[in-house]
Formats: sequence, C-alpha cells, structure tokens
Amino acid sequence: MLALAPAINRLDACSSGQPTSMSTPPEENPAAGPVPAVSLRGGSSIPQLGFGVFQVPPAETELAVATALEVGYRHIDTAAAYRNEAGVGLAFHASGLARHEVQIVSKCWNDHQGHEEARRAFHSTLERLELDYLDLYLIHWPVPAHDRYVETWKAFIELRDEGLIRAIGVSNFNPGHLRRVIEETGETPAVNQVELHPYFQQTGLRREHEELGIVTEAWSPLAQGAVLDDPVITEIAEHHGRTPAQVVIRWQLQLGNVVIPKSVTPERIEQNFDVFAFELSAGELERIEALDAGRRIGPDPETFIRP
Ligand code: NAP
Repeated sequence: MLALAPAINRLDACSSGQPTSMSTPPEENPAAGPVPAVSLRGGSSIPQLGFGVFQVPPAETELAVATALEVGYRHIDTAAAYRNEAGVGLAFHASGLARHEVQIVSKCWNDHQGHEEARRAFHSTLERLELDYLDLYLIHWPVPAHDRYVETWKAFIELRDEGLIRAIGVSNFNPGHLRRVIEETGETPAVNQVELHPYFQQTGLRREHEELGIVTEAWSPLAQGAVLDDPVITEIAEHHGRTPAQVVIRWQLQLGNVVIPKSVTPERIEQNFDVFAFELSAGELERIEALDAGRRIGPDPETFIRP
C-alpha cells in the first residue's frame, strides 16, 4: 500500500470529464506479467523491463505504445523533449488498462530547470499525458553549467509530497551530482537513468548507486543497435537460440538494471519482451563484461547543456 492520500483525494474530487482509466487510485504495485518489480525508495516499485520511446515520431507513438501494452509492457518511458508524451497518453487511455496497472515515466528537460520552471514543466507533462499523477519523474540531465539541478530537485520533492508523483529520480547524474542533491536536500533519488550497454557498462557508477540505494536504469540498452553484431553477443545468442537483442536485454536484467529498450517494429517489441525463459551463465556474463570499452554513444553529462 502506498502513502498517496493527496493523489487519491484529488482523483476522487475530479471525476467529471476525466478518462475513466484515471479513476482507480494507485493503491498497489501490481505484478506486470513475467516482469519482476524493482523496489524504489519511497515505497513504490517499477517493472524491471519497460518500453522507451526516444526518437519515436509523435505520429507513430500511439501505435508503438499500444503494441507494447498489448504485448505486456507495463512501464513506458517518455520525456518532454521527445515531443511524444501525448501519444503515450492516447495509447494508455485507449488500452482499457487501469491507471495503476501501467507505470508512466517522464522527464524534465534542460531549459525547464529551476524551481518554478520545473513545476510548470511537470504540470504541462501531466496535461499532455492527460494524467493526474506520474509514477516516476526524472531530471533529464544535470546541466552543471547552469547549476539549477538542486533547486529543480527541491521542486520535485514538493511535487512528490503533494501526491503528484509516486517516485522521483534523475538521469545522467554523475556521482558528484548525486552526492550534491543528497547533501543539500537530504533526499536521495530513487533512480538514476544513464547510458549503459555492453560497450559502456558504468561499473563505477553502478557501485556508487548500490552504496547510495539508487536503482540503476539503463538507457540505450542496445547501444541503439551498435552491440547487436558483436561476435561475442551473436555467439551467445546462437547458443541459446535467441536474438542478440534478447541476450543484451537479458544481460541487463541479470545485472539488476531497470531496462527500457525502444523499437517501432512490432516483432522486435514482442521479441524484446520475451526474455524471461532463459538465463545467461556466469561465464557468459563474464564474456559480456569483457566487452566494456568505456565507449559512450551519447553526450557526456558534465558538458551537455543543449536547451
Ligand atoms: P536502444 O533501445 O538501445 O535501441 C533502439 C534501436 O535498436 C532502434 O533503432 C531499434 O530499431 C533497434 N532495435 C530494438 N530492438 C531490436 C531488436 N530486437 N533487434 C534489432 N534491433 C532492435 O536505444 P534508445 O532508444 O536510445 O534507448 C532506449 C530508451 O532509453 C529510449 O527510447 C528512451 O526512453 C531512453 N533514453 C533516455 C535517455 C536519457 O538521456 N535519459 C537517452 C536516450 C534514451 P526499430 O525502432 O527500428 O525497431
């Protein structure tokens, strides 16, 4: 049971004109089919395997998310910057699933950092999704050059305490950024969503997360396809009669990461979800571990400032 009384009261208070799927209070963390739930600080939990929609064009988002929900995904990862939150909302509302059955995650973009700006950005996100609470809201990038992530984090804490967000977290934070928000607010992020794939395994950061009690979430878990023809991955895939993407997703799950592969291709959306009926051996995990090249495909959080 979650302590979300303000959200429940608000849900009770605004029954007219709202989609019926919003009318169920988020009382329980439901099991999401075969997908394990990962506990988050604050008392909620999230399905370990979710569906990402970065670079899904707005016009294609509703269909992609509808396909994912049909396949069984119960965790959708969007962001204001992806400009497709509305499509995520449409797919969810058309799905017939109750609000508490699907976890919806979004992110506050760089030019909306700051106390008031972040609050406004959050409410705009809710409007686009046509929701009245979010399951997880993340600061998209720390943007240290602007030095506004601590005040942004304070706004997140308020919104969470107002019952509008079940869990709050960050993305692309390095250990220094994490320690600073914790020291200055006393509040530890539930999640840090970071670039993580076989060529960029974030071993040091994962250790730091473990010490701080932060869940590691992997973005670009397939390195946007770049790891899928690696001979080690293809050999392991052949051995299991699986695809390279399934092996990489399985590796992420066995590391304990929350993982959010993206695809607009129905067969791949389905394939990426079918990763619970095989297991990688310790030797296979070691072979994948040896692929780490410290090679990012995305920007460096210390310097990334794009508004
Ligand atoms: P990804 O999931 O690593 O890879 C997506 C790419 O792999 C697409 O080109 C997709 O093609 C292809 N693909 C997917 N499944 C496949 C399969 N089974 N076989 C072959 N190819 C496959 O990359 P991503 O979208 O960058 O990352 C995933 C999610 O992480 C994003 O959608 C977003 O939610 C999140 N993310 C967050 C941040 C951040 O800063 N917080 C940054 C980047 C991403 P098709 O779509 O054509 O099928």
